[in-house]
Amino acid sequence: MDRSTIDSYAVMMKNFPFPAFILNTDLTVHSWNTPAEDYWGWSAAEVLGQMIPLLNPEDVSFSEQLWFSFLERRQAIQLANTTFLHKSGQSLTSNFLISPLFENKTSENIVGACFCSIPGSSADGTTKPLFQGLMDLRYAFDQIACVLVLDARGNIKYANENMVDFTGFCPDKLMNQPWTRLLDPSQEETLQNIRSQIKQKKAWSGKMPLKSSSDEEKFLQATLIPIYDVNGVRFQHLFIGTDITETTRLEEELDFLVHHNEMTHLLNKRGFLRQGIPLFEEASAAQPLSLILFDIDRFKVINDSFGSHVGDQLLQSLATRLEQQAQGMLTFHPTSDLFGLLIPASNSNTLFQFVRKLQQVVQRPYYINGHSLIISCTFGITRYPSDAKSLEDLFRRSEMALSSGKTIGTGTIQYLTHEMDEQFTRKVQLERSLFTALEDEALSLVYQPIVDLKTKHIDGFEALLRWKHNALGSISPTEFIPLAEEAALITPINNWVVIEACEQLAKWQQTIDPKLTMAINISPHQFQSDSFVRTLQHVIAKKLIAPQTITLEMTENIAILQTRRTIERMQLIKSLGFRLSIDDFGTGYSSLQYLSAFPIDELKIDKVFIDGIDLGENGLLDSIIQLGRNLNLNLVAEGVETPSAQAYLETTACQQMQGFIFAEPLSTKEVETRFTPQ
Ligand code: C2E
Ligand code: MG
Ligand code: MG
Repeated sequence: MDRSTIDSYAVMMKNFPFPAFILNTDLTVHSWNTPAEDYWGWSAAEVLGQMIPLLNPEDVSFSEQLWFSFLERRQAIQLANTTFLHKSGQSLTSNFLISPLFENKTSENIVGACFCSIPGSSADGTTKPLFQGLMDLRYAFDQIACVLVLDARGNIKYANENMVDFTGFCPDKLMNQPWTRLLDPSQEETLQNIRSQIKQKKAWSGKMPLKSSSDEEKFLQATLIPIYDVNGVRFQHLFIGTDITETTRLEEELDFLVHHNEMTHLLNKRGFLRQGIPLFEEASAAQPLSLILFDIDRFKVINDSFGSHVGDQLLQSLATRLEQQAQGMLTFHPTSDLFGLLIPASNSNTLFQFVRKLQQVVQRPYYINGHSLIISCTFGITRYPSDAKSLEDLFRRSEMALSSGKTIGTGTIQYLTHEMDEQFTRKVQLERSLFTALEDEALSLVYQPIVDLKTKHIDGFEALLRWKHNALGSISPTEFIPLAEEAALITPINNWVVIEACEQLAKWQQTIDPKLTMAINISPHQFQSDSFVRTLQHVIAKKLIAPQTITLEMTENIAILQTRRTIERMQLIKSLGFRLSIDDFGTGYSSLQYLSAFPIDELKIDKVFIDGIDLGENGLLDSIIQLGRNLNLNLVAEGVETPSAQAYLETTACQQMQGFIFAEPLSTKEVETRFTPQ
């Protein structure tokens, strides 16, 4: 009866086998059960919403007085020998149990009252003992609930069959015992609550774990009602409960799943936040906390080389070591190979020693399925209150410290630094303004010429995105494109780039050279999106440009994603007539196999290989060029800065180049001034 609105009482009352009805506080009828229809002759349809029709007109003002005093006292009462009128006018006398209905569990506000006529009361005017009356009422509940009748001191005077079945104790073991024996000793707080409610003469409702004979914990949704006689003296309690053991278990299981890592059963991030927040709220400058996150370096390699079942067992063993090492601390496992713990951090030296020790423990060799695995872990550490205002913020900042630790080297222990914090603030600031960047026309394209190595003639341009932030100045695409992807803002930006670059090329083919081409960068996310394909179809439908003059550049990382889908997507784009190129070739997770499987036209050789020329390291460059030639691909050298690099490239089979030596990325105006024929 937790949902103790008047309607849920009405549902329960409908099932009483005895005449019963619920009145609103203004004495109109809220609900009326079938036995009441039979007993008093009024159908529910006739009485609902009407003033109660059962009162003797001469008694109305007296009844109203009684009613108001009942509403004021807010206690369940029993009215012995009360006379109500049958529809035919005949007087019917019976005993009533009247229970106030509160708006909700904690409310003082009465929204109505339930009247139940107690059977067996005689019409001859003699008062039945009140106790007997209640014992009669219990039959009503026996049908649907577990029932105890307690005396004024809380000793069990009656337990129904449902209750006996529920607890598994035979009636002899229950009789005359304090009912609180059924309650687990850990439920002291619940007991206090019940006592205080009863002291205030109120019923208590709630979820109650009870002991059963097999020591198994079971749950009742229970209501304990103190019963008073007409003089206001409490003489009994009625305990009514429904078995919610099964649903409680399901809820607990669900709650466990939602708050724990499926594999290691440590808390996940949600569980960590739930349990960590109270600790966090207690922390202060005098009692600081530290949040330590760590992950396994190159965990992917372990999974790829030994199989994910070995990876899974490694995570489980690591979780066990973490729990042993951090006993009594809040440990958790948010995702994949990321683990964490929240610990008191009064002294930074002790904290460091602790992390050092933890690192040693988790890095000890693991023996799994006959493999001996040696791993290293990188740690990111933040402290509260100095590093963050909320626990989520502290988590994010630990992630930042961790990823910055990774860039320093594997196995690093990295504290959050002021610099990282600035980066974080900058990221948040950029994310916010990115939302309106397109509308504010803060985004623009610049164009870097792509030149024929032999003739030095301009073959075309690569469109490169620029963002001019009004406070932070010019932002590099390598910084804001990942942010736009995270914030799901990338689609409109990408579509804009494609259309803008195509329109620009169409103009330049007329004013500069009809054979000019345009290269457009495509992010992995964009490549997979249907909206990107629709944009390409739009370009064709609107005849913005001949698709053969557009090269779409993808990084190698696109290529390692789901190969079959990738090939299909590439074929679709090729079938529309566009050219495809692999950007920054040689720096990603290349597999030579994909190169021959993919319908690509070009490789853009990454700047690192071009820089190698001046260092006398051109072995790899030569191999790439050889490979490209064998596969019959066009080759573009990226980032050519020096005359010597250019001179070397001229001796190879590489056809095109791009780099500061010829031109930096140029604005539309600059392109037009430099390249429009006079
Ligand atoms: P990318 O496609 O490899 O572009 C070449 C980058 O190298 C450009 O940087 C360009 O300015 C720079 N660069 C060209 N020649 C030289 C040189 O001689 N020396 C040096 N040091 N750098 C040179 P930018 O414009 O900062 O772009 C960085 C990356 O951002 C691009 O690399 C591309 O991956 C991405 N990007 C740029 N525009 C877009 C876009 O519209 N969409 C997507 N998805 N990515 C874009
Ligand atoms: Mg590019
Ligand atoms: Mg590149």
